[in-house]
Amino acid sequence: MAYEKAWADNPKINKTEQKKLVKDGLKIFEDIPLYAQNGFDSIPKEEWDSFKWAGLYLQRPKEDGYFMMRVNVPSGILNYEQVKTLAHICKDYGRSVFDITTRQAIQFHWLTIDQIPDIFNRLEAVGLSSAGACGDITRNIMGNPIAGIDPYELFDTTEIVKEVYEFFQHNEDFSNLPRKYKMSISSNVNNSAHAEINCVAFTPALKEIDNKEIPGFHIKIGGGLSSRPFLAQPLDVFVEPHQVKEVSIAITTIFRDYGYREKRHLARLKFLMADWGPEKFKEKLLEYTGPLHAKGKDALKKWNGGYFYGVHPQKQEGLRYIGFNVPVGRLDADEVLEIAEIAKKYGNGEIRTVNSQNLIIPNVKQENVELLLQEGIFKRITTQPLSFIGHSVSCTGIEYCNLALVETKERMRRIAETLDQQIALDVPVRIHMVGCPNSCGQRQIADIGLQGVLLKTKEKMMVQAFEIYVGGTLDDGGKFNEKLKGKFHADLLDEVLVRFLKTFKDTKLPSETFFEY
Ligand code: SF4
Repeated sequence: MAYEKAWADNPKINKTEQKKLVKDGLKIFEDIPLYAQNGFDSIPKEEWDSFKWAGLYLQRPKEDGYFMMRVNVPSGILNYEQVKTLAHICKDYGRSVFDITTRQAIQFHWLTIDQIPDIFNRLEAVGLSSAGACGDITRNIMGNPIAGIDPYELFDTTEIVKEVYEFFQHNEDFSNLPRKYKMSISSNVNNSAHAEINCVAFTPALKEIDNKEIPGFHIKIGGGLSSRPFLAQPLDVFVEPHQVKEVSIAITTIFRDYGYREKRHLARLKFLMADWGPEKFKEKLLEYTGPLHAKGKDALKKWNGGYFYGVHPQKQEGLRYIGFNVPVGRLDADEVLEIAEIAKKYGNGEIRTVNSQNLIIPNVKQENVELLLQEGIFKRITTQPLSFIGHSVSCTGIEYCNLALVETKERMRRIAETLDQQIALDVPVRIHMVGCPNSCGQRQIADIGLQGVLLKTKEKMMVQAFEIYVGGTLDDGGKFNEKLKGKFHADLLDEVLVRFLKTFKDTKLPSETFFEY
């Protein structure tokens, strides 16, 4: 490895760190062909975790040998060939289950080890990869899902995201970070990349330099969810677009070399940032980058929650982008193939994935919009979803995830359906469901967050239950939702939510949103 491991001599580093020192996570790519030949039983148990660096997790129950694969989609931008390739992989190997994640990535399930080399080849042929989609490494880089077509963005960030993503991909200088590491780079003024919950976020800003107003970025450091959530804090710097890669490398180097490696639950960048504070972090950053401009003018406006439903004008005259709801982010492979063909027929074949687990079809000529919307598939995948299903997000849950305590996706869909049948509101209420405290479904930023737990009944049985949290937002720097007292039996959850939201409806003022400062 090209850098000196400053932490290698620390006798207190945790077991995962010791293991990573012996064998870098990315080395799993060298082993996979052999495992694929020899079958699942040839994989030593102690190697199972290393598959994360290849974007692979063993799904529940691990012993059955089925993998989940996460494929990176920087900025959520997929071309026609990429969408078709993903759909065919899903159809051929993944039992047709196609999930859009809250970080704009795509997830497959039910893969077996013998299929993985062919999947890697197919992905590589269209410029996609699952490398680093999991593990202690730079994950998929979130971006503006309407980058390049957004009439309000300060500038197109597509190439910047791509450049930074490609730098960290398969880069063994940065493949042993203390913990997972999430970046967002966006100049969308509605904070569509959810800046404050990323380890590092580049957000749109303006700065007067030499009597000229220059568009660029501010940066926020140290956000992250899980059981101890933190909102990223701003540094007093302004980064010009051409400096993003250099600044990203410097911040990642700081995390790699100063991040905590003794206690794994304290290893995320958020804990280093919480201890150092913005001043010290900035000081350290400047040691690597040299002088940077001080902060300019923030260009972030109201947060859009990652929602783009409906037909919108692009910055290119005569073109429209269309935002669709994908209920709880799940499609089947045939639906994806159909959407790909429609995107090609009416647009340029591109599809964009959104962190609200939804889809955008861009580059549709204005005169073709109505025709596109008449396609049969858009009865389920709609531009005007009912309010609750249109604002429901769910993690994978017990169906596939080893850490899950409860079932989530199908339950969230059912509950949203019940709420839509019984309650009509004049404002959306965003509901996020997660199956454990790890928060892949980002429950902390929801109006109503539902977190799966276990509950001991009077009969001393452990049953699925939920904690309810209210009042999360990423407006104005963000605020995490707060827990209501008690736990609710999973079977009663829909009834509890119906009553709760009926009360909200009966007592709210016209247009009053669920959470207001
Ligand atoms: Fe699994 Fe928990 Fe993440 Fe849901 S939040 S996918 S249950 S780890």
